[in-house]
Amino acid sequence: MADESRDFDVVVIGGGQAGLAVGYYLRRTPLRWTILDAQDAPGGAWPRAWRSLRLFSPARYSSLPGWMMPGGDAYPTRDEAIDYLARYEARYALAVRRRVRVTAVRREGTGFCVESDAGEWRARAVVSATGTWAAPFIPDYPGRESFHGVQLHSSCYESTDGFVGKRVLVVGGGNSGAQVLAELSQVADATWVTLTPPTFLPDHVDGRYLFEQETARYRAKQEGREPPPAADIGDVVMVAPVREARDRGVLAGVPPFVRFTPTGVGWPDGREERIDAVIWCTGFHPALDHLRPLAIAGADGRVRVAGTRSLAEPMLWLVGYGDWTGFASATLIGVGRSARATVQQIEAALGGAT
Ligand code: FAD
Repeated sequence: MADESRDFDVVVIGGGQAGLAVGYYLRRTPLRWTILDAQDAPGGAWPRAWRSLRLFSPARYSSLPGWMMPGGDAYPTRDEAIDYLARYEARYALAVRRRVRVTAVRREGTGFCVESDAGEWRARAVVSATGTWAAPFIPDYPGRESFHGVQLHSSCYESTDGFVGKRVLVVGGGNSGAQVLAELSQVADATWVTLTPPTFLPDHVDGRYLFEQETARYRAKQEGREPPPAADIGDVVMVAPVREARDRGVLAGVPPFVRFTPTGVGWPDGREERIDAVIWCTGFHPALDHLRPLAIAGADGRVRVAGTRSLAEPMLWLVGYGDWTGFASATLIGVGRSARATVQQIEAALGGAT
């Protein structure tokens, strides 16, 4: 049951898919809980993805617990994913308090004080579900500050608008890099910069296939059987725009430049090149700044957990950050399992509502 007070059994920080999945299971308990989210609209980080993004799994393999994403075998667009999350939130009446950015979580007695730009909340248990999109990672290259051109992380890239006819470097050999390169190379002089030569999955391998394969390995481990070998077959999922870019012959990576100049970059062979823009498709860190007062994050920015539960702060859980907080937990289809186990543990730990 969610209510208007500021004292709760459980405060969930983050109202993206991970926070909603936790809410889905919390609403089946007698606990008093709320979800706090920094955004002014539903959808978590998805509204920040580029406009043409399509999910790499069909809709039926991109669903949260309880309700299947409409669309069957079609690959959902970004806007369909946002619409699904908005409707999911409404369907289960998951009361998310919006425009609340949590700035600090502090220990208070046996529970926590959750500080935000909209006041304080008190909680016996906290679930952090803040994802990674709020903490983009950009590698350090000499002279980066002196570059006069445009620099954009993929989390801020919307579309090819503004890049037509420009000389652009797309940095990063993963799925984001491949998809942004595929679209930009249609309108710009785009070069793909990758640390190692990019590796591509076979055309028939999509998110569904990868999830099934990893699930088989996970189950085998759980049941004490020898897991089937991981098929180390590539990184980039060949979604339609990436296949199209391959057919145009533009899907080749070049090794990184070594430094920036004010007008471009310098390559390992000493050559300097004029560049208008660099798009960093270089990934993310977990967005855990709000946990800093607890001093529990390691040098890699992660918190040590057993399952999703912090080892140092046993009334704190972390959901949705990646495999380190639960198998496939950073995907729509995978986060439900972590959310269910988390709520079971919270219920057991709290032993009922206040
Ligand atoms: P988020 O969606 O980031 O939600 C976290 C929420 O917490 C946000 O609303 C944020 O504003 C809020 N928040 C953060 N900090 C605070 C704070 N301090 N106080 C209050 N609120 C806060 N997964 C799939 O299943 N299929 C795909 O096809 C797929 N494609 C992807 C493509 C790209 C380019 C990327 C980057 C990821 C993709 N993913 C995909 C992975 C994953 O589904 C997303 O990253 C997803 O957004 C993670 O959900 P989340 O709820 O953990 O985090």
